[in-house]
Amino acid sequence: MANKTKLNTEESYNPFIGIGCKLFGHRYRITKRYQSNLKEFECAQCKKQFTLDGYGHYTPLTPKIKRVNEVFESFYTKKGLVG
Ligand SMILES: [Zn+2]
Repeated sequence: MANKTKLNTEESYNPFIGIGCKLFGHRYRITKRYQSNLKEFECAQCKKQFTLDGYGHYTPLTPKIKRVNEVFESFYTKKGLVG
């Protein structure tokens, strides 16, 4: 067996993308708006995803946070349906 130690480097990574974000900040676009008033954003420049934390600050949208948002949303939307 050949020992392939192929480094999974980000070949598509463009160092120029994101410089504008560093200088001027991200260009947030809303990608998803929840009934529960949660929102998800994407940067139009670097394509990173964000959401707002409990303080209203932009925070990177991790899969974990996304899941929390979805759980929260399902609780929120079910409130009106159940009972
Ligand atoms: Zn950005």
